[in-house]
Amino acid sequence: MDLGISGKWAIVCAASKGLGRGCAAALAGEGVNLVINARGAEALAATAAELRSAHGGEVIEVAGDITTDTVRRAVVEAAPQVDILVTNAGGPPPGMWSDWSRDDFITAMDANMLTPIALMQAVLPGMIERGWGRVVNITSGSVKAPIPQLGLSNTARTGLTGFVAGTARQVAEKGVVINNLLPGIHATDRANSLDGPVAEQKGISIDEARVLRQATIPARRYGSPEEFGATCAFLCSQHSGFMIGQNVLLDGGAINATI
Ligand code: NAP
Repeated sequence: MDLGISGKWAIVCAASKGLGRGCAAALAGEGVNLVINARGAEALAATAAELRSAHGGEVIEVAGDITTDTVRRAVVEAAPQVDILVTNAGGPPPGMWSDWSRDDFITAMDANMLTPIALMQAVLPGMIERGWGRVVNITSGSVKAPIPQLGLSNTARTGLTGFVAGTARQVAEKGVVINNLLPGIHATDRANSLDGPVAEQKGISIDEARVLRQATIPARRYGSPEEFGATCAFLCSQHSGFMIGQNVLLDGGAINATI
């Protein structure tokens, strides 16, 4: 299927590794030019070089923390125009409801709610003026079914989901499509960082912890950044125009719900 987005410009945040990188690679594979971001300049440069040599499009790197105003501005200004925005940032650490302070909540909300909102506010006017735009926010399956130890994530991402639900319906008539992509467990560094404490707590290896977790997923495996990226590219395509404000879950069936 031709996704019809060759030659467009996309910003993909937090894209040197993991799911962001999967989205950047899938878009580059469709002929989309990219601005990619992450804090670590070295890994970002390596990813940019790989994407350029694999797909041949333009890839501009903006290294820095996407939760800061300065880096958000730099990312938006780096693209000649922003047709596609994929928001992403690291997830908050696990913990216990009784331990989180106001500052912990503010940090989580900055990364996983206020940053994507600020980026949308920066790029939506241009998309509306040109009559075409696509936004995909990488959130989490935790907005559908809470993950108790990730309470900071549950809280911040649910706020973003509320913002998107209303805003997507306000901009749809202008040709701008906003949706959220909800990962369940995927094989990335983030998955390792969550499996590590479980392994430690149970006195087993990280591989054993992974096998236990895979057994709870109907697909019996973790998702891959490549298949996550392919879904993201579809949501950014010409074909997603009637899909407004949806929360698309990619979790191998882990959340047991009829709808
Ligand atoms: P990952 O493999 O750890 O990769 C995170 C990427 O984001 C890296 O490129 C990292 O590079 C970059 N990054 C992190 N914080 C950043 C910041 N403040 N500014 C700019 N770049 C930043 O994580 P992932 O698995 O792809 O997860 C992506 C998102 O999906 C996270 O929010 C995560 O919580 C969520 N999620 C993941 C899963 C899963 O199973 N993987 C499940 C549910 C939700 P630098 O460190 O160099 O900045």
